[in-house]
Amino acid sequence: MSEDVAEQDGLQETRRIPPPDPDREPLKANVYERMARAAAQLTPLFPYDHAGAIVPCGNVLVGGPDNAYGHFFHWNEVNEVAVTYGSNEAMLATGQIMATQHLHGVNSFLRDEKNPEAFAVLVVTQHQSEEGDQSEALIARCKNCKAELVRHDYDATPYPLPGYDAARHGEPDAPVRQFATTLGSIEFAGRRNSEQGRTCQSCGHVNDLFPADIWGWARMVIQTEAVSKAHRAMRQAASAQDEQETKS
Ligand SMILES: [Zn+2]
Repeated sequence: MSEDVAEQDGLQETRRIPPPDPDREPLKANVYERMARAAAQLTPLFPYDHAGAIVPCGNVLVGGPDNAYGHFFHWNEVNEVAVTYGSNEAMLATGQIMATQHLHGVNSFLRDEKNPEAFAVLVVTQHQSEEGDQSEALIARCKNCKAELVRHDYDATPYPLPGYDAARHGEPDAPVRQFATTLGSIEFAGRRNSEQGRTCQSCGHVNDLFPADIWGWARMVIQTEAVSKAHRAMRQAASAQDEQETKS
C-alpha cells in the first residue's frame, strides 16, 4: 500500500523487520556481566562487525588513587552513540544517551579519576559502513599549547568490503577479528609515547607519557591473536584426526 493511500484511509503500513541472517544468529549480551570481565575499554559485545553492522562496545572506567587515563581525540567517519549504563561522579549521567561528533575528545569521563567512588559503564555503538572504505584517526594534542602532537590515521574498512585488510584484521575464517579501533589505538599510543611524539613541534613542551596500559588495548589485541591461533590449532588437530580415521 502506498503512503498516500494509507494516509487517506487513516491506516499505517505495518513496519516489518526482515528475518535474521541465517549466518548470524540473533544474540544478546549483558553489558554489566561482560564488562566485569573484559580485557579492554571498547570491547565489542558481539562477534558481528561486518559491513552495515551496528557494533556496541563496552567500557568500564573506574577512579582510584593511582588511576590516570590521559586524553586524546577520536575521529570516526561513521556515527557513534554512547549510552551510560550507570555512573557516579562522572560527566555522563546514568541513562544518558549521547550522539558524538565525528571528532570527539576521549578521557575517563570521571570528574576526578583519583576518586575511588567514581565510575562509569558506557556502551559506545558504531554503525559500520555499508560500502566504500571506512577510516578513523586518533589525535593527541600538546597539554601546554594545544597544538597537534600526533595524528594517527588508520583503515577500518569492515569485512567483507573490497577494502577490508585481512592481513591486519583477520582472515575470513577467524573466529574473532581484530577490532580496527583497538589496533589503531595501540599504534597511536606507540607513536604518541615516542620522544618525537611527546615533544611539541610548536612550543617544545615534552608531554607526559600517555597511560596506554589502563585502556587494556594491547592485552585485547594479544588475546584476540591467541584465540584465533587456538581456533586454527583445534581445526588442524580435528582434520588430522579425521585423516587418520579415514586411513585406518
Ligand atoms: Zn605545545
